[in-house]
Amino acid sequence: MLADKDRIFTNLYGMHDRTLKGAQARGHWDGTAAILQKGRDWIIDQMKASGLRGRGGAGFPTGLKWSFMPKESDGRPAYLVVNADESEPGTCKDREIMRHDPHTLIEGCLIASFAMNAHACYIYIRGEYIREREALQAAIDEAYEAGLLGRNAAQSGWDFDLYLHHGAGAYICGEETALLESLEGKKGMPRMKPPFPAMAGVYGCPTTVNNVESIAVVPTILRRGPEWFAGMGRQNNAGTKIFAISGHVNNPCVVEEEMSISFEELIDRHCGGVRGGWDNLKAVIPGGSSVPCVRGENMKDAIMDFDALKDKGSSMGTAAVIVMDKSTDIIKAIWRLAAFYKHESCGQCTPCREGTGWMMRVVERLVQGEASVEEIDMLWDVTKQVEGHTICALGDAAAWPIQGLIRNFRDEIEDRVKGRAIAAQ
Ligand code: SF4
Repeated sequence: MLADKDRIFTNLYGMHDRTLKGAQARGHWDGTAAILQKGRDWIIDQMKASGLRGRGGAGFPTGLKWSFMPKESDGRPAYLVVNADESEPGTCKDREIMRHDPHTLIEGCLIASFAMNAHACYIYIRGEYIREREALQAAIDEAYEAGLLGRNAAQSGWDFDLYLHHGAGAYICGEETALLESLEGKKGMPRMKPPFPAMAGVYGCPTTVNNVESIAVVPTILRRGPEWFAGMGRQNNAGTKIFAISGHVNNPCVVEEEMSISFEELIDRHCGGVRGGWDNLKAVIPGGSSVPCVRGENMKDAIMDFDALKDKGSSMGTAAVIVMDKSTDIIKAIWRLAAFYKHESCGQCTPCREGTGWMMRVVERLVQGEASVEEIDMLWDVTKQVEGHTICALGDAAAWPIQGLIRNFRDEIEDRVKGRAIAAQ
């Protein structure tokens, strides 16, 4: 279990003062200029040594990502863009940072931007996050007034501007290149890659897009040292992580914990256990709605990190854990997700535009049992035709929950289809 002294987010629940004064009292903005004075290479090396992997879902090593940015400018400015478009069903962790502990993010933006030679950073916040935007903007204004942002930010000699951009509420804008398009004032449609953002991102300039949590943990890692961060969690799965646990637990919550905590401890210690007891656990979606579900009995011994959940046939994703007990109609639950992805597809590429609707309609019939057993295989084939054949990962995100359903609950689907057929005789 994570000790209180190792918590990065000490105001996750908004119980303390979230203003600059309160943040400084909790140790934020301490020695920021001294960190910058160590230089870009030092910061990037420290981040690599910490083992931090991106907290937005893909888990790509953050320090390595930063190192892809050009070392010398070719005349174009560089940008950091923070992805705060947290819109995936089940995922609600970044909002707690932005509304209760915003200075962790703001200080992180300054340090990360400096490391990537960027004098400006944009935070792109989800359209529905209105209170979060207000809290974050108030904190940004405060930081400007205190000289922590703007010219000679935090007395570091580095000029730095931070802009908060409010999205309009489209899930697809959380895809990094769609986010950049939207930021430029265009329709939020993903770009073909390459070129990748580090070469040509926002306004055609070198850009790194990072998740809120990935940036907000940076100042503490640099203050406490990469060994401290790397010392938590299993190898290759370092640090602390914010988990957002929802669904059929007694006490749904958002909590910062050590990476590689066991699923059982996470649920028992922080959520008061599964509703109706562990024997009542049916399925878990361990990393946000886009990752495959896992059968309950297979989750009991699970370790909550990138590698262990991959071994379980799923993924860590955003660490948004959706717990479902035996009262859940799992086919209907997955249909709801299929409907979400169909609704949010930008329609730009055919397998996703047509496939998401097709998959949703077939799953809808499976919910009623109005299908044949052969259609389950056909549905599986279609998910494989969508997966990996689209411009962005939304196609995969639509296919994986259905694959998880078929892989883990085929018996239940078949029972329903056969039961319906018998009833109709
Ligand atoms: Fe748009 Fe879907 Fe293609 Fe992504 S995969 S670009 S959301 S149509």
